[in-house]
Amino acid sequence: MKKVAIKKISALLDSLYPNATCALNFRSPFELLIATILSAQCTDKRVNIVTSRLFLDYNTPEKMAALTKEDLIPLIKDCGLFNNKSQNIINTSKILIAEYNSQVPPKREDLENLPGVGRKTANVVLGNAFNIPAFPVDTHVFRVSHRLGLSLGKSPEKVEADLCRQFSKKTWIRTHHQLILHGRTLCKAKSPLCNQCQLNCYCRFYFEGKQLSEGNFINKKETIKE
Ligand code: SF4
Repeated sequence: MKKVAIKKISALLDSLYPNATCALNFRSPFELLIATILSAQCTDKRVNIVTSRLFLDYNTPEKMAALTKEDLIPLIKDCGLFNNKSQNIINTSKILIAEYNSQVPPKREDLENLPGVGRKTANVVLGNAFNIPAFPVDTHVFRVSHRLGLSLGKSPEKVEADLCRQFSKKTWIRTHHQLILHGRTLCKAKSPLCNQCQLNCYCRFYFEGKQLSEGNFINKKETIKE
């Protein structure tokens, strides 16, 4: 996309969503890491409900690592995929204790080596816990980026690379939150509210939508797993 269009989209996102921020509640890098692991295939709202109880008693690697899988499953089961998530959370906590002095490492390679942590989760933690520029691509960012024509990449990694190349590094985290909010409020998966959308004059989907099959455009490309 042309630089001038990127600048216009950036300015519009800033005016539409000036306070866009991480929707997951957390008070430490560890809490954010656990909340992000729990958020796979689950809404942030539900994760916040679960972690508001979970973190009352288990908010450090030591406390979490002391749990058995059977202890943890009932505490997180509302987030779904609880077998894998509980095992990953306990194993991640044990590794943090053994290898990182009970701290969450602020490095991508270290984060991605933790159980249950993929590139998107690492990006969320780097950006939101450590303020290190990163551009997490979740299902909303993927969809909105495709529709706007910011990227036609078939994988989250390709979309991330396209977004990082086009947007200024200092705006990556903010733009990521803004695209998520835009996807949640207007650019919805099933019925985007294009006529209410101030970005429509820059939107590929809006202009070409009649030629694009909504089914192909959404369903095949939007199931992003960690
Ligand atoms: S015009 Fe429609 S498809 Fe394009 S960004 Fe806005 S809501 Fe999404």
